[in-house]
Amino acid sequence: MAEKMKAARFYGVGEPLKIDKIPVPKLGPEDVLVEMKACGICGSDIHIVYEGVTPTAYTPITLGHEPSGVIFGIGSEVRDWKIGDRVTINPFLTCGKCINCLSGNSQICLSRRVVGIHTEGGLSEFLKVSAKNLISLPETIPFDQGGIIVDAVATPFHAITKRGFLRAGERVAIFGCGGLGIHGVQIAKVCGASQVIAVDAIDSVLERAKEVGADEVINPRKGDPIEKIKTLTEGTGVDLAVEFVGLKETIDQAVKCVRVGGRAVVVGLGPEGIVLPPPTQIVRSELSFLGSYGSTTLEIQNVVDLVANGKLDLSVSITERFPLDDVNQGLDHLYQKIGHPIRIVIEMG
Ligand SMILES: [Zn+2]
Ligand SMILES: [Zn+2]
Repeated sequence: MAEKMKAARFYGVGEPLKIDKIPVPKLGPEDVLVEMKACGICGSDIHIVYEGVTPTAYTPITLGHEPSGVIFGIGSEVRDWKIGDRVTINPFLTCGKCINCLSGNSQICLSRRVVGIHTEGGLSEFLKVSAKNLISLPETIPFDQGGIIVDAVATPFHAITKRGFLRAGERVAIFGCGGLGIHGVQIAKVCGASQVIAVDAIDSVLERAKEVGADEVINPRKGDPIEKIKTLTEGTGVDLAVEFVGLKETIDQAVKCVRVGGRAVVVGLGPEGIVLPPPTQIVRSELSFLGSYGSTTLEIQNVVDLVANGKLDLSVSITERFPLDDVNQGLDHLYQKIGHPIRIVIEMG
């Protein structure tokens, strides 16, 4: 086996990633070495490389937290996996001992770290991970879809099912239909929403939302989305609004478009302060205002099962593919929103 591998490494904000040759990692007893086949790139990578709003634990570091591949090596204590198994990887490294891990909320583990942000990531030829982070990937799911499942699809799944607690028959508004929100539309349909209203400022993105199942689409540049949502719901508002943008304005709209007793869930990350309605309103309407972050291994498994059984179709989710050597071009296309990408995936051959 080669002793060195190619990896796309981040050295500093505003600098292109460098393709370095670095040593293939050595395995601990509970680790596996995964030969990478694909790794999605994400808005968080843009925050790291272009905007500097998400600091990495150190530099240089290999980015990439939507990895999938094939097991290449196994630590001495690993029992349930074998060389050649197709896998995707939960990028959250969690302690298993804190109050949140113990209560099934490992996505908010008190000592959470993320592969590709705090430890070496998947934009490389090999990735070392703990065997407990692996999820088996059936033959029917291609590696590129397997990679994006762990963040771009599992994150909205967690937001809608666990935080938003969507029940069959309810009405849902999705704010922002990019890489995460478009999957939010699909997941709301799969979970039995009676009406899914997609809100986005780009018409072609709304068209795409319609193609994957949105019942109604609203462009906020062409009229007040709150009024439109109220009209579409006979004046009551939706049961659940999920916000994937992270802007003050869209969060405000999400809060204002839910019915009395409704839930507004925010997934979009943004630095701006937000203003909530006065307590007289929050209290009397029993508004639930919730943050939602990431997902658990169980939820990733749920999404894998939905895709494997044909209930969730990710065939249009990958907008462009690039080889590892062209990772900076992929990042640039995502940053500049060329072709309004849902997901851009780096393929490792
Ligand atoms: Zn991400
Ligand atoms: Zn923990």
